[in-house]
Amino acid sequence: MSVCSTKGRLAPSPTGAQHVGNARTYLIAWLSARSRGADLALRIEDIDSPRIKPGAVEQAVYDLHWLGLDWDGELIVQTTRLPHYEQALDRLKRQDLIYPCTCTRTDIAAAASAPHAEHEGPTYPGTCSHRSAATADVLAAAGTPFAWRFRVRESPVFVDAYAGELRIDLKHTGGDFVVWKAAGTPAYQLAVVVDDAEMGVTEVIRGDDLIPSTPRQILLYRALGYDPPRFAHVPLVVGEDGRRLAKRHGDTRLSALRDAGVKPDALVGLLAWSCGWQEKPEPITPRDLVPRFRLDAIPRRPFVLTGELLRGIGYG
Ligand code: GLU
Ligand code: ZN
Repeated sequence: MSVCSTKGRLAPSPTGAQHVGNARTYLIAWLSARSRGADLALRIEDIDSPRIKPGAVEQAVYDLHWLGLDWDGELIVQTTRLPHYEQALDRLKRQDLIYPCTCTRTDIAAAASAPHAEHEGPTYPGTCSHRSAATADVLAAAGTPFAWRFRVRESPVFVDAYAGELRIDLKHTGGDFVVWKAAGTPAYQLAVVVDDAEMGVTEVIRGDDLIPSTPRQILLYRALGYDPPRFAHVPLVVGEDGRRLAKRHGDTRLSALRDAGVKPDALVGLLAWSCGWQEKPEPITPRDLVPRFRLDAIPRRPFVLTGELLRGIGYG
């Protein structure tokens, strides 16, 4: 494979503002692509429409520009791609790899967005798995709402480019998973696979709380006849209490840092230091980091963002 055929991606969900944790993952994904001369796409993951705040797409684009990250080609927006997801759903139906599920809305509703660790639902007991894909016509005729679930028959082992060999037992982690919601829109798992495959993405770098999604996505790649990309799942940014960065840790949104006068290069410098690419958290641009990028230099543990570190870059 030639260098030009590799492609990475940034995939912000405009459901909330981008924070320091998102910035670290984007920086890693950007550098991984740029250090190999690869292309990088930007995709806005907005299929979770009820939660999208007005102006959030513009905000995400602005945040990335502010950080000094760029991308190639047109911005891809999921809500403009529904026919592509529908086609993929049809292919899964024809192979009887999915079945209609009429179980309560609560567990199905969660499927729209990426199931970051704390959102992994309980394992689905397989209540509706006796149904064939064709029975959906009967349900539809009767006006019964249903979601589509993928039949999990195996749990693919995969080699993560950062974390090494990973084995997740899908039968005990979620079980048969939702690919299409009763509301008539694709679930995160399906949309992300169709997008990455059709966009020619060959490298997916994201937070390690999405590791349990990867074997599911590999099953979808196989079912749809695509080669899976290279995956690298990197540790998250946590607060001083060791929990994933969130509101309780104060305002770590990029917009808040920007408004407080923090310079993007100061933040990038702090993140670069946290990734082991420089000895001190001193200012640097993403561009200047390109020759220093090494995936395996990133510490195995989550990066603890302290108040002191934030004060060091002029915040708080
Ligand atoms: N849009 C997802 C998120 O922000 C990322 C999903 C992915 O990288 O596959 O959580
Ligand atoms: Zn069901």
